[in-house]
Amino acid sequence: MTASPRAPATARKADQFGGPIGAAILTVVMPTVTFYLWAAVAHHGGGLWLPRSVGELAAMVPAPTIAASALFCGWLAFQAVLYVWGPGKTIQGWPTEHGERAEYRINGLLSFAITMAVLVIGIATGVISPRAVLAQWGPLLTIATIFAIVAAGVCYVAGRRRGALERSTGHPVYDFYLGTILNPRLGRHDLKFFFESRIGMGTWGAFAVLLPAAELEATGTISTAMAVVSLCQLFYIADFFVFESTLLSMIDIIEENCGFMLWFAFLVWMPFNFTLQQQYIAAARPELPFVAAVAIVGLHIAGYYVFRTANLQKQGFRRDPTKPVWGKPPVTMDTERGTKLLLSGWWGLARHANYLGDLCMAYAWCLACGFGSIVPYFYALYFTPLLLDRERRDNAMCQRKYGKDWDRYCERVRYRIIPYVY
Ligand code: NDP
Repeated sequence: MTASPRAPATARKADQFGGPIGAAILTVVMPTVTFYLWAAVAHHGGGLWLPRSVGELAAMVPAPTIAASALFCGWLAFQAVLYVWGPGKTIQGWPTEHGERAEYRINGLLSFAITMAVLVIGIATGVISPRAVLAQWGPLLTIATIFAIVAAGVCYVAGRRRGALERSTGHPVYDFYLGTILNPRLGRHDLKFFFESRIGMGTWGAFAVLLPAAELEATGTISTAMAVVSLCQLFYIADFFVFESTLLSMIDIIEENCGFMLWFAFLVWMPFNFTLQQQYIAAARPELPFVAAVAIVGLHIAGYYVFRTANLQKQGFRRDPTKPVWGKPPVTMDTERGTKLLLSGWWGLARHANYLGDLCMAYAWCLACGFGSIVPYFYALYFTPLLLDRERRDNAMCQRKYGKDWDRYCERVRYRIIPYVY
């Protein structure tokens, strides 16, 4: 079995994210925002803050500790062992432009289940102290950031030293940020896939367990808000691992180079920033009334339903274009490119209703934190423009791929993300 085919890479231009200047700004802004938000929950009760002294600014970046280094290395090794030797099938990747093929171990669900079991049993038996792990949160953040910078630097140099440089632009800052290698490998294994799935999503899952466990250890109870956010997120992460192989056909794996942007996203942005809600709840302890909790879980379930059924409709359609959608034969559109477009189900109501589902879940997790601070809303506030932009980029890509056929499709499916609204 192989991963999805990929269009051959074209010559790279420094035209994304505002070019070299935009890339330079983002290289500084992404870590700065992350450390600032960590300091907001760790030192300022979860509120926005203004640095009043050099000391306060310096305290934003905690020094690494030996304990945090050991935790970090142990965690990477544990996940690598599960990835390489855990039972599961192996998929061959599509050949890259250099004719290389990486291997993908599709055993994420079992690895995640083992990781969760080890964590829960470790915590229940007192072998793992969640509070002791969370005491290393700041140093862990610093170590993960250093690792991301070093990994991006090594990949940059390795990419520049290759015989063929199709994926570089020649702008050092831009190439450092966006990368010069599509799929950096260790042996047969694609590091990008491992770090996105097992470290990005996996660490997020581990933190979603450790944060409520630390609250339980400290106060003897898990607050409603904490339970709601962590359970909803764990559900989303488990679902990701059920459908882990679909990552192989997403642009992250088949199109984006592995530069600082992705290294930082997988190692730092996802695990540390996506759990800001729980970090905030631990610091500010907002009350979540039962009725609000039910409404929030309802929003999460509704969002999940739209997100998952929309994605399944398209995947099912790509495998079998005659498969019924919502119980009826699908309405489809032929294109000159050869692939059909689906006009039934969610794909007939909006061009990216799957993004709407994702956004509903994002807002549900944030609303559980109440309205005491904007800090726990970071996930939704960053995710909304990200998906709005992603929809426009995908639209432009489809316009290039399908030409006039895409215009016809857009005439029939007028809404971008929210049916009858946008
Ligand atoms: P989509 O799964 O929406 O796929 C877009 C592609 O689908 C198009 O390029 C086109 O490719 C094909 N397509 C578009 N319209 C149709 C149609 N009518 N019929 C058949 N095929 C069509 O894109 P993403 O990879 O961006 O998103 C996947 C999921 O991941 C989404 O649910 C998204 O919300 C989620 N996501 C989550 C993120 C997170 O951080 N949590 C970040 C980004 C995404 P082609 O025709 O070539 O097949």
